[in-house]
Amino acid sequence: MTPVREVDVLLVGAGPGGLAAAARLAAAGAGRVEVLEREQRAGGVPRHCAHGGFGTWLHPLTGPAHARLLTDAAERSGAAVRTGVTALDWTGPLELATVSPAGPETIAARAVVLATGARERPRAARLVPGTRPAGVYTTGELQQAVHLYGQRIGTRAVIVGAEDVSYAAAGTVRAAGAEVVALVTEAPRAQTAAVRAADARLRHRVPLLTGTTVTELLGHGRLSGVRVRRRDGRTAVLACDTVVFTGDFVPDQELARRGGIALDAGTRGPAVDGALRTSRPGVFAVGSVLHPVESAGTAAREGAHAAAAVRRWLAGGEWPGGVGLLVEPPLRWIAPNRVAPGDHRPFVLRTTALLLRPVLHVTQDGRPLHRERHVSAAVPNRTLTLSARWTGRVDPEGGPVRVSAA
Ligand SMILES: Cc1cc2nc3c(=O)[nH]c(=O)nc-3n(C[C@H](O)[C@H](O)[C@H](O)COP(=O)(O)OP(=O)(O)OC[C@H]3O[C@@H](n4cnc5c(N)ncnc54)[C@H](O)[C@@H]3O)c2cc1C
Repeated sequence: MTPVREVDVLLVGAGPGGLAAAARLAAAGAGRVEVLEREQRAGGVPRHCAHGGFGTWLHPLTGPAHARLLTDAAERSGAAVRTGVTALDWTGPLELATVSPAGPETIAARAVVLATGARERPRAARLVPGTRPAGVYTTGELQQAVHLYGQRIGTRAVIVGAEDVSYAAAGTVRAAGAEVVALVTEAPRAQTAAVRAADARLRHRVPLLTGTTVTELLGHGRLSGVRVRRRDGRTAVLACDTVVFTGDFVPDQELARRGGIALDAGTRGPAVDGALRTSRPGVFAVGSVLHPVESAGTAAREGAHAAAAVRRWLAGGEWPGGVGLLVEPPLRWIAPNRVAPGDHRPFVLRTTALLLRPVLHVTQDGRPLHRERHVSAAVPNRTLTLSARWTGRVDPEGGPVRVSAA
């Protein structure tokens, strides 16, 4: 049997969420704080986002610079950041089996923070028929190939999707010296800032094919094209040797699921309350595993917020359950998805349909708790927020709280 080593706080995943939580915890003297990262380098997704868009308005950073900053901060605070270590499964309520090149190890903790991130659904999970040629990527795979391993990716790429991450993928294709043939989306319009869509269309001359579905991959050995179908039923072949499936993120919730931790039906990540507590006492979750995906800044702020909750737990704090928080269509999900009267941080949501200046209504057992008007449109795959001004009116003994949009 593998001997059990003990730490105070074990964090799984060294992305912005896990690293920020670890830095705060170690700096606050939470004891032995250890972060496990299965990759060879810490930093999470920003490691391979060579573009800007990270940091703050005053201190903008590229992804790799942001990853280094967070890793240095965690290590300087005294957290142990261990790379090449994968958390495999639970061997007890707060105990994990891990594996690394040094061999298996079981680690027990007084608190565990799941910060395992999210991943894009690959071609196979999207059930796109056709051959199995080389040249098929997700954005994460593409960025790692180009920016971490310096691999050649082909000369003509089709990007599937038209959200922020799709435009980041287009940037990576260009950085690799290849041409972007088109961005293809089933949606009626781009799901990014208007200025970003216009920049791609006008400056980089990248066509955006809306209302268009990729129905088949073609080519043997290497991709030779993708067949697309327009909304009116017409089909065409876009000649390309590279295709990038972007967005369509799913939380990396394998560890939570294996541990029997309750998952939210909307996000499909662990269900958490405002203090980022899961259904298992002592287990917290932060970042993209909760809401695939928000900005790295959001994940890092959540990490800092979770650190405070972890410290209260280590000091003998309670584990109140909160009441369920549900959304009604066309809203798709909300996070956190449990709520207690003291919760004060805003909630993030997604919609499946475009909503012009939506009004969000919050009710519990038919009782109105809050009404919030948004001046801008809610766009699928983009962040929509709900303030927490109403949480003091939640009845902790009542039924689920419901959020709807009108
Ligand atoms: C292509 C792309 C472009 C983006 N561009 C921007 C941008 O410009 N600006 C911005 O603010 N945000 C951007 N984001 C979003 C940002 O990267 C995420 O919000 C942020 O990385 C989330 O941090 P996280 O810590 O939750 O997860 P991640 O960064 O995904 O980190 C999770 C880590 O957990 C590790 N892990 C998972 N399971 C295990 C396990 N069992 N054992 C050990 N380790 C494990 C993973 O290897 C990973 O390193 C982008 C995202 C993508 C995908």
